[in-house]
Amino acid sequence: MSTSQLDLLLTSTTPACNGADGGFREEERVRWLILALAVWDTAGRFVRYIASILQLATNVFSAAYVADQLQAQAGGKADLALKVAARQQCVIKRCRAVRAPSESLPLTACPSQLTVVLDLDETLVASYNASRIPQHLLGGAQRFFIVRCSPCGDGTPNEIAVFPRPGLRAFLQQLSSFAEVILYTAGNTGYAKPVADVLDPDGTIFAARLYRSSTVRTLCGQDYVKDLSRLGRSMSRTVLVDNDPFSGLLQPCNVLPTRAFHGEASDRLLMQELLPYLERLAALPDVRQALTDDFRMAEFFGRQGYLLYEDPSSGFLTAAASVL
Ligand SMILES: [Mg+2]
Repeated sequence: MSTSQLDLLLTSTTPACNGADGGFREEERVRWLILALAVWDTAGRFVRYIASILQLATNVFSAAYVADQLQAQAGGKADLALKVAARQQCVIKRCRAVRAPSESLPLTACPSQLTVVLDLDETLVASYNASRIPQHLLGGAQRFFIVRCSPCGDGTPNEIAVFPRPGLRAFLQQLSSFAEVILYTAGNTGYAKPVADVLDPDGTIFAARLYRSSTVRTLCGQDYVKDLSRLGRSMSRTVLVDNDPFSGLLQPCNVLPTRAFHGEASDRLLMQELLPYLERLAALPDVRQALTDDFRMAEFFGRQGYLLYEDPSSGFLTAAASVL
Protein backbone atom coordinates (compact mmCIF):
# COMPACT_ATOMS: atom_id res chain seq x y z
CA MET A 1 0.00 0.00 0.00
CA SER A 2 1.46 3.34 -1.03
CA THR A 3 1.79 6.33 1.29
CA SER A 4 -0.95 8.20 -0.52
CA GLN A 5 -3.30 5.19 -0.24
CA LEU A 6 -2.54 4.91 3.52
CA ASP A 7 -3.23 8.61 4.03
CA LEU A 8 -6.49 8.23 2.17
CA LEU A 9 -7.52 5.22 4.28
CA LEU A 10 -6.69 6.96 7.61
CA THR A 11 -8.55 10.01 6.52
CA SER A 12 -11.61 8.07 5.48
CA THR A 13 -11.77 5.98 8.70
CA THR A 14 -11.34 8.89 11.14
CA PRO A 15 -13.96 11.37 10.09
CA ALA A 16 -14.39 12.81 13.60
CA CYS A 17 -10.80 13.97 13.60
CA ASN A 18 -11.34 15.65 10.37
CA GLY A 19 -12.29 19.25 10.29
CA ALA A 20 -11.99 21.90 13.04
CA ASP A 21 -12.60 20.99 16.75
CA GLY A 22 -15.46 18.45 16.31
CA GLY A 23 -13.15 15.50 16.95
CA PHE A 24 -11.67 17.18 20.03
CA ARG A 25 -15.12 17.67 21.57
CA GLU A 26 -16.01 14.04 20.87
CA GLU A 27 -12.83 12.90 22.60
CA GLU A 28 -13.59 15.11 25.58
CA ARG A 29 -17.09 13.69 25.82
CA VAL A 30 -15.69 10.16 25.90
CA ARG A 31 -13.20 11.15 28.59
CA TRP A 32 -15.93 12.68 30.74
CA LEU A 33 -18.12 9.63 30.22
CA ILE A 34 -15.32 7.29 31.36
CA LEU A 35 -14.62 9.51 34.34
CA ALA A 36 -18.33 9.55 35.29
CA LEU A 37 -18.50 5.77 35.07
CA ALA A 38 -15.41 5.43 37.25
CA VAL A 39 -16.89 7.79 39.86
CA TRP A 40 -20.19 5.88 39.76
CA ASP A 41 -18.42 2.55 40.24
CA THR A 42 -16.29 3.88 43.10
CA ALA A 43 -19.34 5.36 44.80
CA GLY A 44 -21.17 2.05 44.48
CA ARG A 45 -18.25 0.17 46.00
CA PHE A 46 -18.08 2.65 48.86
CA VAL A 47 -21.81 2.34 49.61
CA ARG A 48 -21.59 -1.45 49.56
CA TYR A 49 -18.58 -1.33 51.86
CA ILE A 50 -20.40 0.89 54.37
CA ALA A 51 -23.47 -1.36 54.17
CA SER A 52 -21.37 -4.47 54.86
CA ILE A 53 -19.78 -2.75 57.87
CA LEU A 54 -23.22 -1.86 59.24
CA GLN A 55 -24.48 -5.40 58.57
CA LEU A 56 -21.46 -6.85 60.32
CA ALA A 57 -22.01 -4.65 63.37
CA THR A 58 -25.69 -5.59 63.47
CA ASN A 59 -24.91 -9.29 63.29
CA VAL A 60 -22.27 -9.20 65.98
CA PHE A 61 -24.51 -7.29 68.35
CA SER A 62 -27.48 -9.54 67.50
CA ALA A 63 -25.47 -12.71 68.09
CA ALA A 64 -24.14 -11.39 71.36
CA TYR A 65 -27.68 -10.37 72.37
CA VAL A 66 -29.11 -13.80 71.56
CA ALA A 67 -26.25 -15.50 73.39
CA ASP A 68 -26.96 -13.33 76.41
CA GLN A 69 -30.64 -14.27 76.24
CA LEU A 70 -29.88 -17.97 75.94
CA GLN A 71 -27.38 -17.78 78.73
CA ALA A 72 -29.86 -15.97 80.95
CA GLN A 73 -32.59 -18.52 80.16
CA ALA A 74 -30.31 -21.43 81.01
CA GLY A 75 -29.00 -19.98 84.23
CA GLY A 76 -25.70 -18.90 82.81
CA LYS A 77 -24.75 -22.26 81.27
CA ALA A 78 -25.89 -21.83 77.70
CA ASP A 79 -23.82 -21.32 74.64
CA LEU A 80 -20.77 -19.63 75.97
CA ALA A 81 -18.98 -20.64 72.80
CA LEU A 82 -21.37 -18.54 70.75
CA LYS A 83 -20.91 -15.55 73.00
CA VAL A 84 -17.15 -15.73 72.79
CA ALA A 85 -17.24 -16.35 69.08
CA ALA A 86 -19.61 -13.48 68.45
CA ARG A 87 -17.19 -11.09 70.07
CA GLN A 88 -13.97 -12.53 68.75
CA GLN A 89 -14.80 -13.70 65.25
CA CYS A 90 -16.28 -10.56 63.82
CA VAL A 91 -16.46 -11.93 60.29
CA ILE A 92 -19.07 -14.50 61.23
CA LYS A 93 -22.79 -14.16 61.30
CA ARG A 94 -24.13 -16.83 63.63
CA CYS A 95 -27.24 -18.84 62.90
CA ARG A 96 -28.83 -19.28 66.27
CA ALA A 97 -32.35 -19.68 67.46
CA VAL A 98 -34.40 -16.53 67.72
CA ARG A 99 -37.67 -18.27 68.46
CA ALA A 100 -37.25 -21.43 70.49
CA PRO A 101 -39.48 -24.23 71.70
CA SER A 102 -40.80 -23.39 75.13
CA GLU A 103 -39.16 -26.25 77.00
CA SER A 104 -37.45 -29.59 76.73
CA LEU A 105 -39.66 -32.62 76.27
CA PRO A 106 -40.06 -34.97 79.19
CA LEU A 107 -38.09 -38.16 78.75
CA THR A 108 -40.30 -41.07 77.76
CA ALA A 109 -37.63 -43.66 77.23
CA CYS A 110 -34.28 -44.82 78.49
CA PRO A 111 -31.76 -41.97 77.94
CA SER A 112 -29.45 -44.34 76.05
CA GLN A 113 -32.17 -45.32 73.58
CA LEU A 114 -31.92 -43.94 70.08
CA THR A 115 -34.25 -40.98 69.48
CA VAL A 116 -35.48 -40.73 65.89
CA VAL A 117 -36.98 -37.36 65.01
CA LEU A 118 -39.20 -37.70 61.97
CA ASP A 119 -40.27 -34.98 59.60
CA LEU A 120 -43.81 -35.32 58.24
CA ASP A 121 -44.34 -33.78 54.80
CA GLU A 122 -42.45 -35.39 51.92
CA THR A 123 -40.76 -37.70 54.41
CA LEU A 124 -43.65 -39.75 55.80
CA VAL A 125 -46.53 -38.46 53.68
CA ALA A 126 -47.28 -36.39 50.60
CA SER A 127 -50.24 -34.04 50.91
CA TYR A 128 -52.24 -32.18 48.33
CA ASN A 129 -55.33 -30.05 48.33
CA ALA A 130 -58.09 -32.57 47.61
CA SER A 131 -59.25 -30.57 44.60
CA ARG A 132 -55.74 -30.43 43.11
CA ILE A 133 -54.39 -33.97 43.34
CA PRO A 134 -51.90 -34.59 40.52
CA GLN A 135 -53.56 -36.51 37.72
CA HIS A 136 -50.93 -39.26 37.63
CA LEU A 137 -51.65 -40.10 41.29
CA LEU A 138 -55.41 -40.41 40.89
CA GLY A 139 -55.17 -43.47 38.68
CA GLY A 140 -52.25 -45.02 40.55
CA ALA A 141 -52.12 -47.83 43.07
CA GLN A 142 -51.21 -45.62 46.00
CA ARG A 143 -54.04 -45.07 48.48
CA PHE A 144 -54.71 -41.82 50.28
CA PHE A 145 -56.95 -40.53 53.02
CA ILE A 146 -58.72 -37.24 53.44
CA VAL A 147 -58.39 -34.97 56.44
CA ARG A 148 -60.68 -32.01 56.95
CA CYS A 149 -58.70 -29.33 58.63
CA SER A 150 -57.65 -25.72 58.69
CA PRO A 151 -54.11 -25.76 57.28
CA CYS A 152 -53.67 -22.03 57.67
CA GLY A 153 -54.96 -22.03 61.21
CA ASP A 154 -57.52 -19.35 60.41
CA GLY A 155 -60.56 -21.57 60.79
CA THR A 156 -61.08 -21.92 57.04
CA PRO A 157 -62.02 -25.58 56.46
CA ASN A 158 -60.18 -27.45 53.78
CA GLU A 159 -59.87 -31.00 52.53
CA ILE A 160 -56.37 -32.39 52.24
CA ALA A 161 -55.53 -35.65 50.48
CA VAL A 162 -52.73 -37.40 52.34
CA PHE A 163 -50.67 -40.12 50.62
CA PRO A 164 -48.76 -42.23 53.19
CA ARG A 165 -45.32 -43.31 52.02
CA PRO A 166 -45.43 -47.02 51.15
CA GLY A 167 -44.67 -49.17 54.17
CA LEU A 168 -45.32 -46.33 56.62
CA ARG A 169 -47.40 -48.26 59.14
CA ALA A 170 -44.94 -51.16 59.39
CA PHE A 171 -42.03 -48.72 59.48
CA LEU A 172 -43.44 -46.78 62.42
CA GLN A 173 -44.36 -49.92 64.34
CA GLN A 174 -40.96 -51.54 63.90
CA LEU A 175 -39.07 -48.31 64.52
CA SER A 176 -40.91 -47.64 67.77
CA SER A 177 -39.91 -51.09 69.03
CA PHE A 178 -36.26 -50.08 69.32
CA ALA A 179 -36.24 -46.27 69.28
CA GLU A 180 -38.04 -43.32 70.73
CA VAL A 181 -39.96 -41.70 67.86
CA ILE A 182 -40.70 -37.98 67.85
CA LEU A 183 -42.70 -36.24 65.14
CA TYR A 184 -41.23 -32.80 64.40
CA THR A 185 -42.89 -30.97 61.54
CA ALA A 186 -42.90 -27.45 60.17
CA GLY A 187 -46.56 -27.96 59.33
CA ASN A 188 -49.21 -25.95 61.12
CA THR A 189 -50.96 -27.69 64.00
CA GLY A 190 -54.32 -27.29 62.25
CA TYR A 191 -53.11 -29.54 59.43
CA ALA A 192 -50.43 -31.75 60.99
CA LYS A 193 -52.28 -32.81 64.14
CA PRO A 194 -55.19 -34.57 62.34
CA VAL A 195 -52.67 -36.24 60.03
CA ALA A 196 -50.62 -37.43 63.01
CA ASP A 197 -53.84 -38.70 64.62
CA VAL A 198 -54.42 -40.94 61.60
CA LEU A 199 -50.82 -42.18 61.56
CA ASP A 200 -50.81 -42.87 65.28
CA PRO A 201 -54.47 -43.32 66.35
CA ASP A 202 -53.62 -44.99 69.66
CA GLY A 203 -50.87 -42.59 70.60
CA THR A 204 -48.39 -45.44 70.94
CA ILE A 205 -45.92 -44.45 68.21
CA PHE A 206 -44.96 -40.82 68.71
CA ALA A 207 -43.49 -40.03 72.08
CA ALA A 208 -44.03 -36.36 71.27
CA ARG A 209 -45.39 -34.26 68.45
CA LEU A 210 -43.88 -30.90 67.63
CA TYR A 211 -45.43 -28.55 65.10
CA ARG A 212 -44.46 -25.34 63.34
CA SER A 213 -44.57 -23.29 66.53
CA SER A 214 -41.71 -25.44 67.85
CA THR A 215 -39.40 -24.66 64.95
CA VAL A 216 -36.96 -21.81 65.21
CA ARG A 217 -35.81 -18.97 63.02
CA THR A 218 -32.10 -18.31 62.77
CA LEU A 219 -30.35 -15.00 62.66
CA CYS A 220 -29.36 -15.62 59.07
CA GLY A 221 -33.01 -15.83 58.07
CA GLN A 222 -33.45 -19.59 57.74
CA ASP A 223 -36.93 -20.34 59.01
CA TYR A 224 -38.56 -23.53 60.32
CA VAL A 225 -35.29 -24.97 61.59
CA LYS A 226 -35.60 -27.89 64.01
CA ASP A 227 -33.30 -27.25 66.94
CA LEU A 228 -32.66 -30.73 68.30
CA SER A 229 -30.78 -29.45 71.32
CA ARG A 230 -34.08 -28.17 72.68
CA LEU A 231 -35.51 -31.69 72.90
CA GLY A 232 -33.48 -32.46 75.99
CA ARG A 233 -32.03 -35.65 74.47
CA SER A 234 -28.41 -36.69 74.16
CA MET A 235 -27.16 -35.48 70.79
CA SER A 236 -25.06 -38.62 70.53
CA ARG A 237 -28.29 -40.66 70.38
CA THR A 238 -30.50 -38.37 68.29
CA VAL A 239 -31.06 -38.42 64.55
CA LEU A 240 -33.27 -36.14 62.45
CA VAL A 241 -34.82 -37.78 59.38
CA ASP A 242 -35.91 -35.05 57.01
CA ASN A 243 -36.24 -34.47 53.28
CA ASP A 244 -35.20 -30.85 53.84
CA PRO A 245 -31.60 -30.85 55.10
CA PHE A 246 -31.82 -27.21 56.14
CA SER A 247 -34.22 -28.28 58.89
CA GLY A 248 -31.13 -29.58 60.65
CA LEU A 249 -28.95 -26.56 60.06
CA LEU A 250 -28.10 -26.18 63.73
CA GLN A 251 -27.01 -29.81 64.20
CA PRO A 252 -25.61 -30.94 60.83
CA CYS A 253 -23.99 -34.03 62.31
CA ASN A 254 -27.39 -35.35 63.41
CA VAL A 255 -29.11 -35.06 60.04
CA LEU A 256 -30.17 -38.02 57.92
CA PRO A 257 -31.43 -36.49 54.67
CA THR A 258 -33.95 -38.49 52.68
CA ARG A 259 -35.33 -38.39 49.19
CA ALA A 260 -38.55 -36.40 49.01
CA PHE A 261 -41.76 -38.37 48.64
CA HIS A 262 -44.47 -37.03 46.35
CA GLY A 263 -46.91 -39.93 46.37
CA GLU A 264 -45.13 -42.52 44.23
CA ALA A 265 -46.52 -46.02 44.79
CA SER A 266 -43.17 -47.52 43.80
CA ASP A 267 -41.27 -45.82 46.65
CA ARG A 268 -39.53 -48.32 48.96
CA LEU A 269 -37.32 -46.06 51.02
CA LEU A 270 -38.89 -46.59 54.45
CA MET A 271 -38.65 -50.35 54.81
CA GLN A 272 -35.81 -51.22 52.46
CA GLU A 273 -33.37 -48.39 53.16
CA LEU A 274 -34.29 -46.25 56.14
CA LEU A 275 -35.32 -48.86 58.70
CA PRO A 276 -32.19 -51.04 58.24
CA TYR A 277 -30.00 -47.95 58.46
CA LEU A 278 -31.68 -46.78 61.67
CA GLU A 279 -31.28 -50.27 63.16
CA ARG A 280 -27.55 -50.00 62.54
CA LEU A 281 -27.46 -46.51 64.07
CA ALA A 282 -29.25 -47.81 67.18
CA ALA A 283 -26.30 -50.10 67.85
CA LEU A 284 -23.77 -47.26 67.83
CA PRO A 285 -22.78 -45.34 70.95
CA ASP A 286 -22.67 -42.07 68.99
CA VAL A 287 -24.62 -41.63 65.77
CA ARG A 288 -22.89 -38.42 64.72
CA GLN A 289 -19.71 -39.94 63.35
CA ALA A 290 -21.62 -42.41 61.19
CA LEU A 291 -23.99 -39.70 59.92
CA THR A 292 -21.06 -37.41 59.20
CA ASP A 293 -19.19 -40.12 57.31
CA ASP A 294 -22.25 -41.16 55.30
CA PHE A 295 -23.92 -37.83 54.50
CA ARG A 296 -21.34 -35.06 55.13
CA MET A 297 -24.01 -32.49 55.86
CA ALA A 298 -21.50 -30.06 57.37
CA GLU A 299 -19.65 -30.00 54.05
CA PHE A 300 -22.95 -29.55 52.25
CA PHE A 301 -23.85 -26.54 54.39
CA GLY A 302 -20.33 -25.22 53.88
CA ARG A 303 -20.83 -25.34 50.11
CA GLN A 304 -24.04 -23.36 50.60
CA GLY A 305 -22.09 -20.53 52.23
CA TYR A 306 -22.56 -21.45 55.87
CA LEU A 307 -19.66 -21.48 58.28
CA LEU A 308 -19.63 -24.16 60.98
CA TYR A 309 -17.85 -24.23 64.27
CA GLU A 310 -16.81 -27.03 66.52
CA ASP A 311 -18.54 -27.67 69.80
CA PRO A 312 -15.63 -27.86 72.26
CA SER A 313 -17.50 -30.30 74.49
CA SER A 314 -18.16 -32.92 71.81
CA GLY A 315 -15.79 -32.13 68.98
CA PHE A 316 -18.64 -32.21 66.49
CA LEU A 317 -20.00 -29.38 64.42
CA THR A 318 -23.15 -28.39 66.20
CA ALA A 319 -24.09 -25.00 64.87
CA ALA A 320 -23.99 -23.23 61.55
CA ALA A 321 -23.21 -19.71 60.59
CA SER A 322 -23.29 -17.69 57.43
CA VAL A 323 -20.43 -15.77 55.94
CA LEU A 324 -21.19 -12.15 55.18
MG1 LIG B 1 -40.49 -32.23 54.82
